[in-house]
Amino acid sequence: MAAQYNPIQLTQPTRVAIVGVAIDCVDFALTLDLIDAWVAQRHSAAACDVALPCQQICTVNPEFIVDAQHNSAFAAVLRHAALCVPDGVGVLWAARRAGVHLPERVTGSDGIYRICERAARRGWRVFLLGAAPGVAEQAAAVLTGHYPGLVVAGCYAGSPADDEWPAISARLHAAAPDILFVAYGHPRQDFWIAQHCAELPAAVAVGVGGAFDFVAGVTARAPRWMRRLGIEWLHRL
Ligand code: UDP
Repeated sequence: MAAQYNPIQLTQPTRVAIVGVAIDCVDFALTLDLIDAWVAQRHSAAACDVALPCQQICTVNPEFIVDAQHNSAFAAVLRHAALCVPDGVGVLWAARRAGVHLPERVTGSDGIYRICERAARRGWRVFLLGAAPGVAEQAAAVLTGHYPGLVVAGCYAGSPADDEWPAISARLHAAAPDILFVAYGHPRQDFWIAQHCAELPAAVAVGVGGAFDFVAGVTARAPRWMRRLGIEWLHRL
């Protein structure tokens, strides 16, 4: 008989609204602690034959905020996500104007490294979904080079189109990842995660935009000085 599952009580970070869009007051350290807790929670639930739903993380940059103003379905996805991290210096500025101090940007492009570093230490399995064919595999090779011991449970370009779901679902169930990175660009990746969240076999799914392209070196990131000044968007333009 399976053991009785006792849910872990997690402290949720403070959530603020910036022009109606949810942002959680987190830095990288707190984001990683939450991911840690969600993975542990899913493992202990699974040991008791309880399947917990996947937790969705959205990396909210100013484009998300602009899009959410005229796309109420996207605004709802952000509202219902387990965590909306502040990705973009414009989000930090807007928060400051609203009287909220957000400690640092928590970007998908840096987050993928931070999460993989933690994953390698903890033995979590990661899955890279999205980007052009072959790019996820290239990114995975770079990440395993940085973090020896990182378990890449799978890579697949796929597509967020509905008819791809059975193929993706089969791969994910075979790979049994703890962390699912989804690189379909916003808002598609965020809609896709929200749509499938209840049945995704992962503890956490995070939309990372063009992060696989950056990690694989397919697209160059802005130089470090531009990123420090918070004008990465200018480089992308
Ligand atoms: N992408 C994909 N399938 C799609 C649409 C996009 O794999 O149907 C990938 C694309 O190859 C790229 C990423 O999604 O790797 C989008 O990156 P972008 O920088 O545009 O995302 P954003 O930062 O705007 O969310």
